[in-house]
Amino acid sequence: MLDGCTPWPEEFATLYRSEGLWRGERLGDLPRTWARTFGDRTALVAGDLRLSYRDLENRIDRMAAGFHRLGVEPGDRIVLQLPNVPEFVIVAFALFRAGAKPVFSLASHRANEIRHLCELSGASGYVVPGVYRGFDHTALALRMADEVASLRQIFVLNAENGEESDAGSGAETGTAGATVIPLARVDADPVPLPDSDPSDVAFFLLSGGTTALPKLIPRTHDDYVYQTGAVAEVCELGADDVYLAALPVEFNFTWGCPGVVGTLGQGGTVVLVETPVAEDCFRAIERERVTVTSVVPTVAQLWLEEAAWGEADLSSLRVLQIGGARLQPELAARIEPELGCRLQQVFGMAEGLLSMSRKGDDPESVVQTQGRPISPADEVRIVDEHDAEVPPGVTGELLTRGPYTLRGYYRAEEHNRRAFTEDGFYRTGDLASLTPEGNLVIEGRLKDVVIRGGDKISAGEVEGHLLTHPSVARAAVVPVPDEFLGERIYAFVVHRGEKPALAELKRALHERGLAEFKLPDRVEFVEDFPLTPLGKIDKKVLAAAAKDPALSRDWAPAPSTPDPRDIPDHEKTLVRPLARQER
Ligand code: AMP
Repeated sequence: MLDGCTPWPEEFATLYRSEGLWRGERLGDLPRTWARTFGDRTALVAGDLRLSYRDLENRIDRMAAGFHRLGVEPGDRIVLQLPNVPEFVIVAFALFRAGAKPVFSLASHRANEIRHLCELSGASGYVVPGVYRGFDHTALALRMADEVASLRQIFVLNAENGEESDAGSGAETGTAGATVIPLARVDADPVPLPDSDPSDVAFFLLSGGTTALPKLIPRTHDDYVYQTGAVAEVCELGADDVYLAALPVEFNFTWGCPGVVGTLGQGGTVVLVETPVAEDCFRAIERERVTVTSVVPTVAQLWLEEAAWGEADLSSLRVLQIGGARLQPELAARIEPELGCRLQQVFGMAEGLLSMSRKGDDPESVVQTQGRPISPADEVRIVDEHDAEVPPGVTGELLTRGPYTLRGYYRAEEHNRRAFTEDGFYRTGDLASLTPEGNLVIEGRLKDVVIRGGDKISAGEVEGHLLTHPSVARAAVVPVPDEFLGERIYAFVVHRGEKPALAELKRALHERGLAEFKLPDRVEFVEDFPLTPLGKIDKKVLAAAAKDPALSRDWAPAPSTPDPRDIPDHEKTLVRPLARQER
């Protein structure tokens, strides 16, 4: 296995193989098998472009040979930063086939994150879109090549002159500079490529979170092929399904839950759109007769608003997967009646474990819980602060291990000692409980708590109660430092109708039986929330604002990205659904 990664212990690897979960297939070989099985069926759609399974395989095969000819070798790390375009899929599979390991960067990452990803992974290559939404990624890549010695090749999707060139001064840093290569030139007649080990790392996903720079999550061929197949089975996905990739495709949710890879594995069609904005997605759903898609709760909320006003025909939609952040039961209950499709709750993480509600689950549990793990080999423990298991109904930290859950972050020995138990369980940092029926309920983050005078208050719990008030449309609770209590509870609220007074909110929460010490100390009304690139509420920004009343509450553009051109359009729209306000 690639140096810097933690393999599964031999006894587990043997077990997963003997149970038929790890089948020794490589991600890079899948498109060939798909092309043989599904041939002329449509694999990918983006705007007017339609690629059959055969087209897709041909393009991947030629590009893999192209990378090989350009000196990309098995084991090389290549940072992949493209938006939701067909080339993302083609490049990723071509790199898998060439044995290189793509590092899935978010399209919205900038110098800070990219430098970190290149350095941490020791990347030799970086794939960029060129100028995308006003931001010059090639210029950023050149800067990175000057700063990071390992970076030698920059592959550009929309290269301006289409010519290969040497770039990056290298003079001051002592590096050799880098070659800029238009992606269109990564093309060669197919040749036999070196074999790679299916139990080795295929690519890297990034850890989520809104606090630190991302960590690298190694995903092996065996574990990811298994995950995508297992989710497709749970979702009862078939060749007639059409999956809409609305969230960023580099997100594990969109790429493999079942997402792009799971849908292609069944002979279905993947439709790519570049933003999760409701109007664009609804048009795509109507035109392509989309049957399944996945969104985060903030996007689901905007989709509900659009559905109430718009006239798009969503009748083809069979399942809406919602996950990535806590879905409030009130919002969950509106999905089926208002969108006319089945809700599937998804609790997942790029690190591995996936838990989902299933068709046929009783409606109450679909609204209230995040279902059950997708694999019989997933091991889940809910523990107290001494790592002792707690009974059903009691909240504790969720620990997990299994056939597609990592055993260690890449090159992170010290962090790994804290993030895993001695027997290899991953400490998710999520607070959860189990219902008597065995469904998971995610209550919040271990660290998403306010510690007020020694009492630990789950932000998610207070938010849930606030949301039951008719004047509260959205709520986010963060700690604010306090000289006497250590921290106090600060609630940001997006209100609907009249603004309720703090006293009125407290009274209502108290009447619901919320303990006195959990009542918000301060409520601030805002128009909207700052969001991370994936549409999760950015609590880091909110906590900073709670501390400093002078900080701007105008979250668009986000305070950390002063240049408005750095903000992808979809984020602007997510933050401010202007169309709605103008009507
Ligand atoms: P990521 O790896 O970026 O997908 O982030 C994973 C984290 O998102 C999990 O550890 C949870 O904290 C959170 N998360 C994902 N799905 C849900 C969900 N359905 N409900 C609550 N939190 C979730």
